[in-house]
Amino acid sequence: DPRSNCPPDAEALGRGTWTLLHSIAATYPDVPSKSQQSDLFSFVKLFSRLYPCWVCAEDFQTYLGKEVPRVQSRDEFGIWLCGAHNEVNAKLGKPQFDCSRWQERWRTGWKDGRCD
Ligand code: FAD
Repeated sequence: DPRSNCPPDAEALGRGTWTLLHSIAATYPDVPSKSQQSDLFSFVKLFSRLYPCWVCAEDFQTYLGKEVPRVQSRDEFGIWLCGAHNEVNAKLGKPQFDCSRWQERWRTGWKDGRCD
């Protein structure tokens, strides 16, 4: 990709950021401590104020106001995050992702062995 050495546009930034966010969900504990829960909650809030695509950040903050981040377990957070990503997908006319399969995409690999 000849543009990979250029400053990121909203697309490249988004792809990298979703990879980071879903990977944080994938490595979050099944049974997080209180301090892990408050760290993740604070991170999501701060992220929504610092994300360097300002229109994206503004819409994400609005979403946080409607759908409070769920940080009580890995699967809860992963499904919450998948819902947030699907909201952006809908806005951009991209297909909806089946949130029951978020762990296959981001943690375990697909059950059909595609990632092995
Ligand atoms: P991406 O949407 O980047 O997804 C990457 C991969 O994640 C996909 O290939 C798929 O395998 C997987 N995936 C897709 N949906 C889900 C899901 N629901 N759950 C789990 N995994 C999934 N761009 C704009 O133009 N306008 C915006 O307002 C905007 N807001 C954004 C807000 C946030 C918080 C972030 C992180 C990004 C935002 N973006 C926005 C960028 C946009 O979401 C995409 O990242 C970008 O358009 C590139 O899209 P893509 O098709 O490569 O796949």
